Amino acid sequence: MPKYVFLFEEGNKDMRDLLGGKGAGLAEMSRLGLPVPPGFTITTRACNFYAKNQRFPPGLEKQMRETLAAVEGKAGRKFGDTANPLLLSVRSGAKFSMPGMMDTILNVGVNEATVQALASLSGDERFAWDAYRRLIQMYGRIVMHIEGAKFDRILEAWKAKTEGGRDTDLTAEILKSIVSEYKSLYRAETNSDFPQKPYDQLRQAVVAVFGSWTGKRAMDYRNFHGIPHDLGTAANVQTMVFGNLGGNSGTGVAFTRDPATGAKGLYAEYLPQAQGEDVVAGIRTPLRMEALRDAMPDIYAELEGVAAKLESHYRDMQDIEFTVERGQFWVLQTRTGKRTAQAAIRIAADMVKEGRISKDEALLRIEPAQVVELLMPRFRPSDKEAAKRSGKFLGKGVNASPGAAAGPAVLDSDLAETLGSKRFRAIESRDPSSSVEQTVDAAKTELQGATGLPWISRLGPEAFVIKTNDGRWVESEQYREILAVGGRERAVELRLKVVLTRTETSPEDVHGMLHAKGILTARGGATAHASVVARGLGLPCVVGCEALKVDYEGATFSLGDQSFAQGDLVSIDGATGEVFGGLIPAVEPDFEKEEELRTILGWADETASPFMVWANADYPRDARNALTFGARGIGLCRTEHMFFETERLPIVHDMILSAVAARGKQPEAHARYLAALARLETFQKSDFEGIFRAMAGLPVVIRLIDPPLHEFLPKHEDLLVELMELRRTGGDTKVIAEKEAMLAAVEATREANPMLGLRGCRLGITYPEITEMQVRAIFQAAVQVKREGVDVHPEIMIPLVGHVNELRNQREALEAVAKHVMESEGLAVDYKFGTMIEVPRAALTADEIAKYSEFFSFGTNDLTQMTFGYSRDDAEGKFLMKYVEDGILPYNPFQTLDGIPGKGEEPRGVAKLMEIAVERGRKAKPDLKIGICGEHGGDPPSIAFCHRLGLNYVSCSPFRVPIARLAAGRTVAGLRTTVARDK
Ligand code: PEP
Ligand code: MG
Repeated sequence: MPKYVFLFEEGNKDMRDLLGGKGAGLAEMSRLGLPVPPGFTITTRACNFYAKNQRFPPGLEKQMRETLAAVEGKAGRKFGDTANPLLLSVRSGAKFSMPGMMDTILNVGVNEATVQALASLSGDERFAWDAYRRLIQMYGRIVMHIEGAKFDRILEAWKAKTEGGRDTDLTAEILKSIVSEYKSLYRAETNSDFPQKPYDQLRQAVVAVFGSWTGKRAMDYRNFHGIPHDLGTAANVQTMVFGNLGGNSGTGVAFTRDPATGAKGLYAEYLPQAQGEDVVAGIRTPLRMEALRDAMPDIYAELEGVAAKLESHYRDMQDIEFTVERGQFWVLQTRTGKRTAQAAIRIAADMVKEGRISKDEALLRIEPAQVVELLMPRFRPSDKEAAKRSGKFLGKGVNASPGAAAGPAVLDSDLAETLGSKRFRAIESRDPSSSVEQTVDAAKTELQGATGLPWISRLGPEAFVIKTNDGRWVESEQYREILAVGGRERAVELRLKVVLTRTETSPEDVHGMLHAKGILTARGGATAHASVVARGLGLPCVVGCEALKVDYEGATFSLGDQSFAQGDLVSIDGATGEVFGGLIPAVEPDFEKEEELRTILGWADETASPFMVWANADYPRDARNALTFGARGIGLCRTEHMFFETERLPIVHDMILSAVAARGKQPEAHARYLAALARLETFQKSDFEGIFRAMAGLPVVIRLIDPPLHEFLPKHEDLLVELMELRRTGGDTKVIAEKEAMLAAVEATREANPMLGLRGCRLGITYPEITEMQVRAIFQAAVQVKREGVDVHPEIMIPLVGHVNELRNQREALEAVAKHVMESEGLAVDYKFGTMIEVPRAALTADEIAKYSEFFSFGTNDLTQMTFGYSRDDAEGKFLMKYVEDGILPYNPFQTLDGIPGKGEEPRGVAKLMEIAVERGRKAKPDLKIGICGEHGGDPPSIAFCHRLGLNYVSCSPFRVPIARLAAGRTVAGLRTTVARDK
C-alpha cells in the first residue's frame, strides 16, 4: 500500500511533487530544526485518487489515525480530549503556489466539550469561543458550501453593537451568541447539526481540501497559468498555534527582502491578536514591522534569525508565515516569495553580488515577462504634480504592485471581465487621428450595446489601450504619433482600461482582475489577496486606500470627500500607492535609469555571446533608441518607411506616376522620374548618414524597397469619390487632371494579391532605377560618414528573393553602383550583400542563393504568411484567433515561430524551412552570417529556437531588445545548468 501520510520530519524540500510546495517547505523547516508546530502531510497522490473516485484511497484513514497519534505525542495534547485538546489546521498545498485559490480550515477539533477545556486551559474564555465561531464559519463555508456572506452578516451585526466596532471588541458573551446563531444558520442551511466528533471534522476538512483542487476557481487559475490539472494538491494537517491569545500573541507574514522593490532587509507585516489568515485576507490593515520590534524585541530577533537561515538555505527570497503564541515564536510556512519585476531583478543582481547564486541562476530567475513589466508605463512626476495642484490627489494606500493605470473605475468583477476582455480590431484609415477615433467609436457602440451602460458613450480614446503589431500596448496618443510619422504600425487590438475598484478582493474576483488594467482596494496590506494576485499578473495595484468607500448597490464610490459613479475615471500609481480622480496619461519608463536591469542584461549578453541581439530601426532616432536598449547592430532598416514622411510623399507620388508613365513610353516622363529619384536620394542619403553615425562601428542591414508601389498612393476608392465630387462641382481642371493621372497610376499598379505581387526584389528588377538610387544613397552616406572618422558597415539586403536569378540580377547591378560610388569618391567601405529568406522557395534553394549572398536574414513575417498561405494582414482578424481558441493551432504563428520542436523532436513547418535554409546555406558557404528580422526575433521561445539553429543574431523592434537580450542569455544559461526557477 502506498504511503499516503508523511510526518513533517519524514519529508524534505525535494518532495514537492508528492507533498506539494507547502508540505515540502514544512518538512524542510522541520529538518532544519526550526520551531514548526508538529503535523503531517497527506500526499497529492491521495488527492488524485479522491478526484477520480470521490472517496479516500484504501488505507489512508488508518495511516491518518496512526500519524495523528504521533503528532499528539509530540504536541503533548490529544485530539478531542476534554481536558487538554489538540486543535488542528488543514491547509491545501499544491506543487505550484496558487495564492488564495484553495482552501484552509482552522481550529479543527473544537466542539461543545473542547471549547470549555480550551477556555479553562487558556484562561481566556473569549479566545475559546472565538476559535469555535471561526471553525463553524470556515467549515460551514468550505465544507458545506454555505454562502460566506451569511456568516459575515451575523458577525457584522454583532460588531456594530460594540463600541469600537472591531473584531477585537467582541466579548466572550457576544461570541457565545454568535456561535449559537452560527449553529442555527448551519442547521437551517444543511439540515444537520454542526458535527461534534473531532475526527469527522478532520475527515471532512481533508475532503474539502481535495475537492477544492477541482473547484472552478482553481481550474480557472490553472488554465490561466498553464499549470497541469493532474498534479493534485496535498493536505497539510498541523497543530494549531494561536495568535489570538492576548496581547503578546499575533500573526504575521514576512518577506526576507522587500517584495515590491527588492531592497535588502526583512519586510513584514504583523497583526496583534489575530489568527492565521487574517493578515493574508486583508481584514484589518496590519502594522509595520517596527511595531513588533519595539513591542517584542526577542521575537523580532528570532524572526530575523529564522528569515536569514531560510533565505540562505533556499538561496532565494522567502515568504514566511509566522505566529506568536503568548510570547513563543512559531513558523508556519516558507515559500519562494512572489515579487514584482523590479524586485526580481534587484534580488537576482544582489544575490550574485553577495555570492549566493551564479549569473546563470540569476538569469533563469527572471522571466522575460518581468522585463516587459519593468518597462511598463508610468506617470510623469510633473503630471502627478499638476493633478495634485488641481485637487485630484484623493488618497494614498499601500503600493502593492508597480505600474501606472488609469481608466474607468469598475466596481464589479463580472463587469470588469465583460468590459476589459473584449478586443476590437483597429479600423484602418489613412488619417491617423480618424483611424483611432473610428476604432474607439465602434468599440464604444459595441460595449454599450453589450452592457447598456450610459457612461460608456462619454469615454474618450484615452480610456483605451492599443496593442501594436510588435506586441506593445500603447496609449491612444502615442499610437496616433506612431501613425502620424508614417510608421507602418498597425493596431491589432484595442481594449478598455478598466480599473477594478473594490473594498477588498477575494478569489471570486480573479476573473475580473485578469481583464483589468489596475486594481484599487480600500482594505488590506501588501500581502492581501489583491496584492498577491496583482503582483502575479503584473498589474498595477494599490490596496488599503482608506479614503476609498465603495457602495456596490448604488454603483458609486467616494474618495475622501469626493463622490464618483462607476465608469468615472481614476488613476492609480502602484509604485507609490497614490490615487487620483480623473485620467493621468501614462508614459514609457526610462531604461537608462534601470541600473540593475542593465547589469543583468549585460550578464545576459556575456552569457549568450557570440549570439547577439540586433534591432529593427528605420530612422536615426530608432537607431539611437536601439543602442540605448543594448542592440549590437541593426538587423533591418526598412528604407521605404522613409518614403512615408509628409514632405517626401509628394515626391514619391511623382516618382511613381512618372515611372509608370515612362514604362508607357512617354519620353518626358523618364526625365521626371529621374528627377524625383534624385530628390529622394538626397533625403535617403541624409537618413543613412544619421543611422551610420548613431551605429558607429556596428553593422547596419539596410533593406531595399519592399512593399508594392500602390501602398504609397491614395486608395483607389478614395480617389474615385474625390474625382466624382470634383467633376460634379466643376472643380479646378488642373486639380482634376492631377487626380486623373494619379488614378491612372493607381489603376496601373493595382493588384489582386499585392502581397504576392510586384514587391521586394521584383520591384528593383522592374524599376532598376529605384534600387540603384537607394544603393547610391547608402554608399554616398557611408563614404561621407567614414570621412568624418566613423567606422561604417553597411549590409545591403535584397528582399523577397525566391529564385537565385533574382538575387544575381540585383546583386550584379547594385554592386556595380556601389563600386562606382566608392571609386569616384576614392574611398572604399566595408560592405556586404545579402538577402532575406522569406519565400519558401528561397529556403529550399538556400544552397544556390548562398552563392550570391554573404548573409541571410529570415523574414519570418512573410515566411509564415507564405508557408501557411495566411494573409498576415487579415488572418488574425478573420480566423486565426478562432483557430487558436479552438485548438486547431497551438498558438499564433505570427507571434511565435510555427513548428518549434520539443526536446528530441524534429522542427516542422516554418521552423523546418528555417532549418533547411541554414543547413543548405552554410553547406554552400560555411561562414554565411544568418539572422532573423521578422517579429519572431523578439519572442523568447522563437529566440531559443534561433539559437539552437546556430543563427548569429536575432533582430527585433528596439522596445523588445531588452526582453530579447534576457531571453538569449536565459537560453544559454538554461542549456548550461539544470537549476530551474523555483516557481
Ligand atoms: C518579414 O517578412 O519578416 C520582414 C521582416 O519584412 P516585412 O515585415 O517588412 O515584410
Ligand atoms: Mg517581408
